Amino acid sequence: MSVRSQLVLLAALQRLDERLRRLEDEHRQLPQQLHPYEQACREARQALDQLRAELAASERERRARERELDECQAALAKTQRKLREVKTNREYSAVLAEIAAGKERIEALEEQILQLMEQAEQQRLACEAQQQRVEAAQQELARQQQLLQVRQAELAQRLREEQEARQRLVERLEAGLYAQYEQLVAARGGLAVVEVQDGTCGGCHLKVQPQLVAEIRRQEKLFTCPHCRRMLLWPVQEPAPSADEACVVERAGQRRPDDRSSL
Ligand SMILES: [Zn+2]
Repeated sequence: MSVRSQLVLLAALQRLDERLRRLEDEHRQLPQQLHPYEQACREARQALDQLRAELAASERERRARERELDECQAALAKTQRKLREVKTNREYSAVLAEIAAGKERIEALEEQILQLMEQAEQQRLACEAQQQRVEAAQQELARQQQLLQVRQAELAQRLREEQEARQRLVERLEAGLYAQYEQLVAARGGLAVVEVQDGTCGGCHLKVQPQLVAEIRRQEKLFTCPHCRRMLLWPVQEPAPSADEACVVERAGQRRPDDRSSL
């Protein structure tokens, strides 16, 4: 296989590796997509716990008032019995005043108990509504978990396919050239094969000597950029003035056999 064909294969491998990296990144980051739904569940449960605590507090308060009411009623009955045993008018007035005060206290307690019961009823309704929100949040989380599993399976399948395609591609490459590519990929952030554009390296954008450019154009052997050591590939078509690095990488894979006529 000619040097040029090997380089074109390498450029295809480079694009495939870029796709693999993107797929692996997406696969790795997928679980993070659940975080907002997990957070919503946590917050809904915390709000429910808070409402339940408020309900329990008002029920405790009501029971305390009910015990106090029982005591007041017992005390009132005792005072009323005392009324039959009084001897003097002064005692009589004092006991009557005691009875009036007891009744007043009982009325106040009954009013408080009623208010606490109404409050507890409102709190129970709020708990039920919040319980529904918790269930809705849990259902949404479960739905998102299912979607995530589907997406994970899709990505895993695509990763397997791309890795198999990569294996087939690597088998067609010369071992030494492939090893050089791997070293460059590791050292140069994934970009090992670049085109020469307007006499500059498509990787580091520094100027390549005209003599070397002429030799690269013939592509009879492998040339690397004197500045960044990336492998230099002569482009098929004249690079567009606005071409950026991403386009350069993409174009490297679009060569056909008749492209040699432009050399
Ligand atoms: Zn360079």
